[in-house]
Amino acid sequence: MTTPFDSALVWFRRDLRSTDHAALHYALKQARRVWCVFVFDTDILDPLPRADRRVVFIRDSLLELDEALRQLAAAREVPNAQGAGLIVVHGSALTEIPRLAQQLGVQAVFANHDDEPHALVRDAQVRGKLSDVGAALFTSKDHVIFERNEILTGNDTPYGVFTPYKNNWLKKVDEFYVKAYPVAPHAQHLAAIPADVGMKAPDGSRIPGLGELGFEPTDALKVPAGMSGAQALLDDFLERMDHYRDTRDFPGVKGPSYLSTHLRFGTVSIRLLAKLAWDRAKAGSTGAQTWLSELIWRDFYHQVMHHHPHVIGHSFKREYDKIKWMSGAKAEARFAAWCGGRTGYPLVDAAMRQINQTGYMHNRLRMVVASFLIKDLGIDWRWGERYFAEKLLDFDLAANNGGWQWAASSGCDAQPYFRIFNPISQSQKFDAAGKFIRRYVPELAHLSDKAIHAPWLLGDLGDAVDYPAPIVQHEAARAETLERYAVVKTGEKPR
Ligand SMILES: Cc1cc2nc3c(=O)[nH]c(=O)nc-3n(C[C@H](O)[C@H](O)[C@H](O)COP(=O)(O)OP(=O)(O)OC[C@H]3O[C@@H](n4cnc5c(N)ncnc54)[C@H](O)[C@@H]3O)c2cc1C
Repeated sequence: MTTPFDSALVWFRRDLRSTDHAALHYALKQARRVWCVFVFDTDILDPLPRADRRVVFIRDSLLELDEALRQLAAAREVPNAQGAGLIVVHGSALTEIPRLAQQLGVQAVFANHDDEPHALVRDAQVRGKLSDVGAALFTSKDHVIFERNEILTGNDTPYGVFTPYKNNWLKKVDEFYVKAYPVAPHAQHLAAIPADVGMKAPDGSRIPGLGELGFEPTDALKVPAGMSGAQALLDDFLERMDHYRDTRDFPGVKGPSYLSTHLRFGTVSIRLLAKLAWDRAKAGSTGAQTWLSELIWRDFYHQVMHHHPHVIGHSFKREYDKIKWMSGAKAEARFAAWCGGRTGYPLVDAAMRQINQTGYMHNRLRMVVASFLIKDLGIDWRWGERYFAEKLLDFDLAANNGGWQWAASSGCDAQPYFRIFNPISQSQKFDAAGKFIRRYVPELAHLSDKAIHAPWLLGDLGDAVDYPAPIVQHEAARAETLERYAVVKTGEKPR
C-alpha cells in the first residue's frame, strides 16, 4: 500500500504510551518510515524546582516507552529493530522539533492535541517553523473522549453546568469514541534512528539521566511510572471499581483509582478507561457510574479551559475578581502554615503533609484544604492553585484550575459562595477514626478518635506534643468570608 508521506515524526507530549495512541496510529498509517521523539522542553522545565517528582516520573516512563517501541518494531521484523525506539532531545520545542524534522528530512510531524493555552501558542509557532523546513504539523484528539466543540448545548454554546453536559456526553458516547487507535498492526513502519540523532547518556542509552537534564533525584515515587505502572494500578482498581461510590470520599480507605498521574501523562489511554467504566456502568454498577462521572468532569474542565481561557489567572465568573483577599505579612504567615501542614486543624495538616511527602492528595482533601485556604484563611485561590501546580504529580492545568475555582465559588458550576466546609465536621465525617490523620500527623496519633479532630478542645496538649493551636477560629473566619464575598452580586442566597 502506498503512503502519502515517505517519512514522519511523532512528537510525544502528554501521551507517553505505545498502545492506543492517535498520533502514532495516524503516522504509522500514513508514512513509510516513522520516528518518535520526546522533547525535555526547557521552556517548561527551566522554572521548575530542581528536585521535581514529575521529571522523575516522565523519565522513568520514557525508559519504558523507548523499550516498548523497540519491541513493537522487532515484532514486525523491522531491519535493525534494536535501533528503533525513542529520540530524546533537551531544549526548546520551538527550535528542537523543526531542527529534528529538517535533520531527518520528514514531511510530516504528528502530535496529539494539547489545549492548554501556552501549548496552543507553542504548537502554532512550531507549525510555522515546520512549514519553513517543508514539513506539516498534524494534530488529533487523544487526551479526552470529547473535546472543544464536540459537546455543546442545543444553541451551540458551551455548557456552563456539569449535569446537562454529562447527560449530553452520555447520550453522545458510543463504541466509536472509546475505540482504540491500534499501533501494533502498523509498527513495521517504525524506523531505526540515525546514529547522530538525539541524546546519548554516558551508559549508551538514549534517555538522559536526571543530572544531564539539570535535575536532582527525589524520594522514591509513590506512583509506579510508565505503562506498566498504570496497568498495575488499573488491575488493582478493577477489583474495587464497583465499590467506588461508597469508598471514594474516605482518605483513610483505598477508594479511588490513583490513576490521575497516568491520565495526565498519557501512560494509560482515556478510551480504555472510559470503555471499562462505561461497560460496567451500563451493566448496573453504581461504582462504575460514579467513576465514569469523574472521567466526564475531566473532559468538562478541559472544554471549560478551551472555551474560556481567561480562567487561567482570572475568575470564570468575572465579578469574583472584585473580592479583596488577605495580603501582607499576615497572609504570608497563614499561607506558610497552610503549605507546611501547621494550621492546627489536623485533617487540613494531614492533607498538606500528604501532598508535600508524596505529590498526591485525595480528592476529598483537595476540596477541604482549598476551602480552608480560601474561606477560613481568606487567601486568594490563585496562591493555592500555584502551590498545587508545583507539588502535584498529577498536576493538570484544567482540572486544577477547575478544582480551585470550584472551591472559591468563582468557577464554572462551582459551589455557592456561602457553602463553607467546616474543617472539623469534614474530619469527623470522612476520617471518623482519625486513621488518615494518624498516618500524616503522628504527633497526634495517641489522641482518641473523638479528640483527634480538634485537639485544642482538650485544653493543653502538653509540652511533649509539638502541634500548633488553630491559626483561626472557624466560626469567626466564616463570618469574615461571607462579608468578603458580599461584593459579589449574584442571585445566590445563603440558605
Ligand atoms: C482543588 C483541587 C485541585 C485539583 N487538581 C487536580 C489536578 O491538578 N489534576 C487532576 O488530575 N485532578 C485534580 N483534581 C481533581 C481530583 O482531585 C483528582 O483528579 C483525583 O483526586 C485524582 O485521584 P484519582 O486518580 O485516585 O481519582 P479517581 O477518583 O480515581 O478519579 C478518576 C479520574 O477522574 C479524573 N477526575 C476525578 N475527579 C476529577 C475532578 N474533580 N476534576 C477533573 N478530573 C477529575 C481524574 O483524571 C482521576 O484520575 C483537583 C481537585 C480539586 C478539588
